[in-house]
Amino acid sequence: MAEQRDYYDILELGRDASDAEIKKAYRRLARELHPDANPGDPAAEERFREAAIAYEVLSDPEKRARYDRFGHDGIDASSLGDVFGGGLGDLFDAFFGGGGGPFGGGGGGGRVNNRGEDLETTLQIELDEAVFGGHHDVTIRTAVACDTCEATGAAPGTTSESCDECGGAGQVRRVRQSILGQMVSATVCPRCQGLGQIIVDPCANCGGDGREVVEETYTVEVPAGVDNGSTLRLTNRGAVGPRGGAVGDLYVHVRVRPHPRFERHGDDLVHELHVGFAQASLGAALDFETLDGDETLVIPPGTQTGRVLRLRGRGVPQLRGRGRGDVLVQVVVDVPTDLSEEQADLLRQYADLRAEAVAPPDEGFLSKIKSAFR
Ligand code: ZN
Repeated sequence: MAEQRDYYDILELGRDASDAEIKKAYRRLARELHPDANPGDPAAEERFREAAIAYEVLSDPEKRARYDRFGHDGIDASSLGDVFGGGLGDLFDAFFGGGGGPFGGGGGGGRVNNRGEDLETTLQIELDEAVFGGHHDVTIRTAVACDTCEATGAAPGTTSESCDECGGAGQVRRVRQSILGQMVSATVCPRCQGLGQIIVDPCANCGGDGREVVEETYTVEVPAGVDNGSTLRLTNRGAVGPRGGAVGDLYVHVRVRPHPRFERHGDDLVHELHVGFAQASLGAALDFETLDGDETLVIPPGTQTGRVLRLRGRGVPQLRGRGRGDVLVQVVVDVPTDLSEEQADLLRQYADLRAEAVAPPDEGFLSKIKSAFR
């Protein structure tokens, strides 16, 4: 077997490439090297295959980490998909909108995999919805079966015919010479795009695709405890495949809006609470608003800035498992900066009792301030 090229070299990237750069590089190469764009060019086909495998490894954080550490030895080559077999076909579909694509991935049956596209959308929710869960509608543009032709693609009253190029098999075999001898590869039939059937009289509504684009609304069940950046998968809520193909999935990316009072840290909710110097010294019982309603928060006497008070079980539920996180109240003791004369006098008496040296009243400064208000 020929020496394996470095996956980063194949995608023409540095080792610090971001996920987005990897995706972009693969898209560009896949378009450039696509067998449709390079008919009868085995070198391009081989590079196309190479790029797809490099992408399969580098786009998977776990495989990429193993590859970075151990090189090709860290990757079980037999686990990688084959362009003509299966896994990579899905990858290709995800990029270019599968179904009719020439690399749908047959999976043994010979027919192209005409499963519909997976779709994705973003759902914005509030923090309390992330904590308690709930239902949300999302509206997406998707493909559904064409009503006019009942997803067959053939005009009503007509039928499709078996493809004469591939005899209805959906794929054609090609024989080529390589250094390893004669290689037989099966490719998707270019005439019927792997469907095995040719539409003689296409449906006027869908142009023979067997589906039409509509806006659909689905209800998403948001699980309690979901975090910002999570993705929910709704099976069979993607696009339907062409001519009666299977339905793809819908991926919903969850964004949780920042909350004015709480910042989420794992399953805990953190709140910064400002208290007065007297409250911190003497202690207090305060009404404290949590996502579950008002609670009494006890500030123990002698509380210092930085102390964390815990309201157990008022945080975020664990997504898998039982129990909830806590609300953590981080106390900040404020030093007053707006003392009235009377308050300043009392503080001076207090300082006197504790033998703390404090600045004397600054008559000049105070009279300036008073004159400003006359
Ligand atoms: Zn139709």
